Amino acid sequence: MRALEGGSTHYSDSMGDYEFRRLIAKNNMNSRGFEPEIDQVLVTPGANIMIYYAVRCLVNPGDEVIVQNPCFPTYLSVFSFCGVKPVAVPLKEENEFRLDPKDLEERITDKTRLIILNSPHNPTGAVMRREELEEVAEIAIKHRIYLYLDEIYSRMNYGETPFYSPSIIDKCKDYLILANGFSKAFAMTGWRLGVGIGPKHVMEKMGLLLQTTSSCVPSFIQKAGIEAILGDQNPVREMMSTYKRRRDLLVAGLNSIDKIECLNPGGAFYVFPNIKKTGLSSNEFAGRLLEEGKVGVCSGSDFGSSGEGYIRLCYAVSEAEISEGIRRIKAFVEHL
Ligand code: PLP
Repeated sequence: MRALEGGSTHYSDSMGDYEFRRLIAKNNMNSRGFEPEIDQVLVTPGANIMIYYAVRCLVNPGDEVIVQNPCFPTYLSVFSFCGVKPVAVPLKEENEFRLDPKDLEERITDKTRLIILNSPHNPTGAVMRREELEEVAEIAIKHRIYLYLDEIYSRMNYGETPFYSPSIIDKCKDYLILANGFSKAFAMTGWRLGVGIGPKHVMEKMGLLLQTTSSCVPSFIQKAGIEAILGDQNPVREMMSTYKRRRDLLVAGLNSIDKIECLNPGGAFYVFPNIKKTGLSSNEFAGRLLEEGKVGVCSGSDFGSSGEGYIRLCYAVSEAEISEGIRRIKAFVEHL
């Protein structure tokens, strides 16, 4: 409100306001152990569109992008309308949905231009281990391929597998691009604020794309981002312990249902239970649960073919709603 009243309502620098980018760069030292140069930092209207900027600037039509399967559906839409070819690395439940770097390396061809890696992961909540992340980064650098690290859930980690960013390996100077945003940990979904850190020449091109499409991120929104970073972090910590309670409640509830099996994921606010024993496809399960049980969940196959046999539930809802949801899912499954 102060920023609006103070007149921060005009066009500003397309790469982002200097004050905000400086803070992002300095803060990156605390969170990820290196301070990027200011020209490596780009402020975007959310992390979602940053995926488009990166694919558009780095991949020509017909070239290949390696991505986890299942994955955040925006990736798949962007690949489709940019005419680039997705090459999927299936995530396996027996590996707790963590990507195996060897599965990734096998899929690299001379057409691979970009690898996208999201951890903590949407839709499974999986958190990759430090050694796995380092291996992925080293593979990308060895093959001279850009690696886009979607770390939007970095602060949403329950401690079992500590968050680690491999971005420190090349300090985002040559191949690694770090994408983050304010939607998740700060619950600022409607503010549309994201931040990218990457090689200067890449961020410059992504910044030009931003400039010619949306001009800039409003300054008053960036000032809110400064408040979020510098302000009292207790609400974020409290929210994370609330999310942890919700996760534990949801996972225990789902596992108490015959024919449903659910891992306990280490991050984000999703669970990805296996529903194969119900005999229904993911789409049938989600559709019928909505109609008959009045519970909205996502079909796992909406996140890619490897999501078949799973559903995704989001626990950004109250404990009372989770308990009621479990009661209804149980009744639905018992009457199949
Ligand atoms: N990346 C992933 C993996 C997400 O799950 C989401 C939102 O659900 C986004 C990016 C987009 O976030 P934003 O609200 O910053 O656009």
